[in-house]
Amino acid sequence: MKGRASAVMRVLGAVALSLALTGCDVTSDGEALTDASAWTYIGELAYAPQDDELLTAAVELADAAQGFALFAEVDGCAQVARLEDDTSTWVSALESGPSCAACEERFSVIAGAGLLVHLPPEPRAGPARLRLGKIDCETLTRARPSADTPASSVRLWVRELPTLPRELVVPLRFHHGRFSPRASDAESEALLAEAAALLAPTGIRVVLDGSSTDDTLPDSIPWFEGDPSALEPHVEPEDGVVDVVFAGCLEHVHPELGTHTLLDGLVPRIPAQAAPGAGIFLRGRACTAASLGPISVPVESQARVLAHELGHYLGLYHRLEDTDADTLMAPNPALVANPVFSPAQAERMRLHAALLSEPMPDR
Ligand SMILES: [Zn+2]
Repeated sequence: MKGRASAVMRVLGAVALSLALTGCDVTSDGEALTDASAWTYIGELAYAPQDDELLTAAVELADAAQGFALFAEVDGCAQVARLEDDTSTWVSALESGPSCAACEERFSVIAGAGLLVHLPPEPRAGPARLRLGKIDCETLTRARPSADTPASSVRLWVRELPTLPRELVVPLRFHHGRFSPRASDAESEALLAEAAALLAPTGIRVVLDGSSTDDTLPDSIPWFEGDPSALEPHVEPEDGVVDVVFAGCLEHVHPELGTHTLLDGLVPRIPAQAAPGAGIFLRGRACTAASLGPISVPVESQARVLAHELGHYLGLYHRLEDTDADTLMAPNPALVANPVFSPAQAERMRLHAALLSEPMPDR
């Protein structure tokens, strides 16, 4: 234990230095540098049994209580198990997650790799302390320590949050399967225009970066939060660009419970950036074997789903503190009377779009 403690202490020195310096990285004409130096590698941390959990050692992030972004590469699945600063406890249990009503901050389960963004509502000072815990990918509950648990670890990078811009361009790249209702240029442009109109009040300006066809898209994509492998072949990870895949049937399939849930759209995690299979997937056909043809989706409805999924991609859950049910982030965006994002939702999206526009850490 002594060896591990001293290694973490050395890591802490490096993290503090970087967070203090990144704000000063400006060129002579005052433009912020946007190279990979915004990210600092913390190190590789092994899980160790603690009671009935498998947790990493605590990482103390100096001057991070006002918020930070963390990138994690994990063996299997992981979740934030503890997150606190000197005055608040944000996460106190490994069961935390998107459905946790008691959690002060919500984080999707990380499958393989993922971004975490901690953004307290009020400015504060001091360090933040974080531990990750191992999650069972098939149940999304904590992995129990046992004698035959294989050794595994997480690799972590941290950076300070970018300055919040007033407006940001988010390039979208369309990938059309054979059930795509937007395969022609005119239909793509019509969908883009509708989505752009929904997003314009938030300061997010979506543009079409490119369009291609994907003949390898299957009739049906089953998906579960713990396993994004069916999504990965259909997106092309590239910093700053959001892949939009016009797929066939999309179904949430729970490997343990055996439940199947029809989805109009999905992203692999929140935020989706840098997650395996990161992209927005839109459904183009029914999931029953009897009706294999494309479904007819009005462009207005699909634009709402696209805007909603981009919200997830850019860090939004269905609820945020200042919002009621009547925003585009309601679970069914087609049914809301007033298709808007709240001011807090708009700020969160711009923060994530700013992160999206900068390079992820070299791995
Ligand atoms: Zn949703």
